[in-house]
Amino acid sequence: MAEIGQDIAQAKAILSKGGLVGIPTETVYGLAGNALNDRAVTSIFQVKNRPSFDPLIVHVADMNAAASFVQEIPEPAKRLADAFWPGPLTLLLKKKSNISDLVTSGLDTVAVRVPEHALTRQLLTNLNFPLAAPSANPFGYVSPTKAEHVEAQLGSRLEYILDGGACQVGLESTIISFAHDQPKVMRLGGLSVEAIEKVVGPVEIANHSSSKPAAPGMLKSHYAPKKSIVLKSDFDRSSIENINEIGALLYNQYDEYLPKRNQFLLSENSDLNEAAARLFLGLRTLDQHENINTIITDFVPNEGLGRAINDRIKRATAKS
Ligand code: AMP
Ligand code: MG
Repeated sequence: MAEIGQDIAQAKAILSKGGLVGIPTETVYGLAGNALNDRAVTSIFQVKNRPSFDPLIVHVADMNAAASFVQEIPEPAKRLADAFWPGPLTLLLKKKSNISDLVTSGLDTVAVRVPEHALTRQLLTNLNFPLAAPSANPFGYVSPTKAEHVEAQLGSRLEYILDGGACQVGLESTIISFAHDQPKVMRLGGLSVEAIEKVVGPVEIANHSSSKPAAPGMLKSHYAPKKSIVLKSDFDRSSIENINEIGALLYNQYDEYLPKRNQFLLSENSDLNEAAARLFLGLRTLDQHENINTIITDFVPNEGLGRAINDRIKRATAKS
């Protein structure tokens, strides 16, 4: 069992000796270790059972700290960082040699981000090293948006979890690359494409439906609960033997044929930001519901954070 609390000094002490701490961010909870300590970085991969070819995001306190780990910050990256840091935006930039190949899985870019959460920002400004932190869940499973989710899945392998309450955004960060200084969205996430385009103009969005991705955040089948989850449109209702065994994760309206207690609405008020914040909680809740063995779901409007939600729904329902 990990200790859960809000003690920055304790978190700092554990991290400084190479240990791991669960940290709150506005996106999801992170499994954090000293990004400059190879032993800490290696244990992040082990604890998550994450393949070594899936690079980690490096979290820093501010733009100045970011600058000390990258060779250059292209103009559009600067504009985006100015506009959205701290926030759910990760920039892929050419790394300096002070970032080890373990962190970047041998790539010559490093993913950097300034997270927006009072506790974690306070922690970062108190450390003299950056934090490598992937989502604090076992590889491939639903990301944690509360301290108790981290405790439930990784508690036995962690010393401490900083409890910052429920994550406000609830989706992983939006990742942008800058090959030839052209911003390109590599992973849809908690910062909408519309917001990004207001700052840097139209951006390309990488096609993720690859079975040989640049990195597993982009894997076709990912973010999946343990139970079978299918799109409403692919679900054959005539095959239902017992409606109590069917759950539903839906946007703003209940399925009229299924029991309400088996359903989780993302946002009764049709608010996509609220839906984003509740998506992983919904997947987790239905996954743990004792009677349910199949979860049906559906896409939400494909705008704002709806695009990132739909991306996660696509991956959660993809056949591996
Ligand atoms: P997570 O922290 O679990 O949300 O996952 C981090 C994700 O960031 C990875 O799965 C990759 O998709 C992406 N990523 C991190 N570093 C790089 C990099 N250097 N190049 C490309 N993608 C990266
Ligand atoms: Mg993850």
